[in-house]
Amino acid sequence: MAKLKILEFPDPRLRKKAVPVENVDAALRQLVDDMFETMYDAPGIGLAATQVDVHRRLLVADVSSEKNEPWVLINPVILEKDGTEVSEEGCLSVPGYYEAVERAEHIRVRYLDRDGIEVESEFEGLLAVCVQHEMDHLEGKLFVDYLSEAKRQRIRKRLEKDRRSREEERATVF
Ligand code: ZN
Repeated sequence: MAKLKILEFPDPRLRKKAVPVENVDAALRQLVDDMFETMYDAPGIGLAATQVDVHRRLLVADVSSEKNEPWVLINPVILEKDGTEVSEEGCLSVPGYYEAVERAEHIRVRYLDRDGIEVESEFEGLLAVCVQHEMDHLEGKLFVDYLSEAKRQRIRKRLEKDRRSREEERATVF
């Protein structure tokens, strides 16, 4: 297994729209394993392939406190959604920021599981929010897109400044 590098906002690669997965094979399952390792290590509750610079329609999630309920959704499609729920969201690609976002409370999704079998599942609560957040990534969309332009620009400037100071720190180590 290998830990993957997570892209950070405003990296333009986070804006790419992912294409469908064609084959659920050993290479794809290796990617799934690497994505879980990356997500658990971060730590986070969800990760879309887009965030590790793989532009295919695939996401992983685990919202359990024991970290023993892994979900793999390949080529997910929302069939139904209802209700609304506002919750504080964060994102591994926007480190350190949490903002309220409105989502559907309940969704029904069709997808392929890690064996390539087509299934339908219903999600609610945190898992529903997480799946919607990760599916946005596959469209090149980030949770900061739901915020005001001014707020998004503030976050972007602060993240760019943090990144520059991290790079300067590295540069002084000989
Ligand atoms: Zn995210």
